[in-house]
Amino acid sequence: MGISRILIANRGEIALRIHRAAHEMGIETVAVHSTADADAMHVRLANHAVCIGPPAAKDSYLNVAAIISAAEITHADAIHPGYGFLSENAQFAEIVEAHGITWIGPKPEHIRTMGDKVEAKRTAGKLGMPLVPGSDGAITDPVEAAKIAKKIGYPVIIKAASGGGGRGMKVCTSPDQLETLMQQAGSEAKAAFGDATVYLEKYLGNPRHIEFQVFGDGNGNAIHLGERDCSLQRRHQKVLEEAPSPVITPAERDRMGGIVAKAMADMGYRGAGTIEFLWEDGEFYFIEMNTRLQVEHPVTEAITGVDLVREQIRIADGKPLSVTQGDLEFKGHAIECRINAEDPWNFTPSPGMITAYHPAGGMHVRVDSGLYSGYKIPPYYDSMIAKLIVYGRTREGCIMRLKRALEEMVIEGVKTSIPLHQTMIREPDFIHGDYSIKWLEEWLATREA
Ligand code: ADP
Repeated sequence: MGISRILIANRGEIALRIHRAAHEMGIETVAVHSTADADAMHVRLANHAVCIGPPAAKDSYLNVAAIISAAEITHADAIHPGYGFLSENAQFAEIVEAHGITWIGPKPEHIRTMGDKVEAKRTAGKLGMPLVPGSDGAITDPVEAAKIAKKIGYPVIIKAASGGGGRGMKVCTSPDQLETLMQQAGSEAKAAFGDATVYLEKYLGNPRHIEFQVFGDGNGNAIHLGERDCSLQRRHQKVLEEAPSPVITPAERDRMGGIVAKAMADMGYRGAGTIEFLWEDGEFYFIEMNTRLQVEHPVTEAITGVDLVREQIRIADGKPLSVTQGDLEFKGHAIECRINAEDPWNFTPSPGMITAYHPAGGMHVRVDSGLYSGYKIPPYYDSMIAKLIVYGRTREGCIMRLKRALEEMVIEGVKTSIPLHQTMIREPDFIHGDYSIKWLEEWLATREA
């Protein structure tokens, strides 16, 4: 029979992105929304819409009972979770499947394993991926921790096993701080994620963040779709992403891509996934795996021509991968700017009414956004309001086009991060692709000084 109606358990640009892929495949969509999102674009475009609760995400977009009920009353036969919210909640995936609804996502056991960073690291190591040197699993004993830290060398980073979104990390530069910082990290992790488990890792001085997009069919076949460079970050949150990475050669892509694709095949991984690495002095170090679609997936789509959401839906429907590794070609260069409703320099959120909106256009310019003139950005959710994705045959051409496209974007009524992007992409370091995960914060600090 196949999937005929997908409930999209998300909001904003990603809900629209999924709706678009579904519609192109002749599949109907059901939007769910909080009372604060009744006028949102994803609600307007979907075939059906159900209000699932009040503004607070815990009562609406995280409200499992309400979402399952919405699927039942609208006869949705599949659920796509997007990113964030319930997308990496293994229990939600199990509940969806227990209701006879197709889960457009990885197998629940893989979501669970990779959601625990300690387990994820162990699994990645077993599957042959290079790891950041550190504790072999969780660590509780400060004496043991001190021994490991001494062996790998300071600085070290204490990370929460259940951490995410760039939170739950503490850098420790000397032995006398270790015990205190471990305790702090543990209690903060307990408060934020309900799990005090921490582990230890070498803190790399000046790495890049490079991640590989992977896809598996769940039956032992898997491919990689190249890498994305997401080193431009503020507070461990990505700001601008590009594909390919300016520092990865085709031979290195083939080699690492081969390792991650084989790992996914060996696991029997199903659906889309991202394997994140830190990269320093030519070496890759696994940090975590995300078992979902990523915000930055469009840059991969731009250089491969593969519609990743369509692929997710096909695989959930039991179809084979639509491309083989041999079919894939990486052509040209793509950059994504995350546009947030916030002050571009001090980053305070700026929700409110959009008084004028005109997205950039033209050849090789894509804007994923739920904005429209007269839309009121609610204050309850993530501040990302649009993604601008630009493609060029070369990186240089891509940057030229990006400058032009950023100039064309009109978003009035709220402050946005467009001026940050415009300034940043004119910096020689950016133009030369010469930046690490530290670059953006250091650059912001010199601007303040
Ligand atoms: P999260 O799940 O919260 O995103 P990650 O493990 O992916 O956590 O790390 C997020 C970011 O934190 C990385 O992109 C990098 O900037 C920084 N980071 C993580 N581990 C290390 C490390 N061992 N050394 C240096 N920086 C790190």
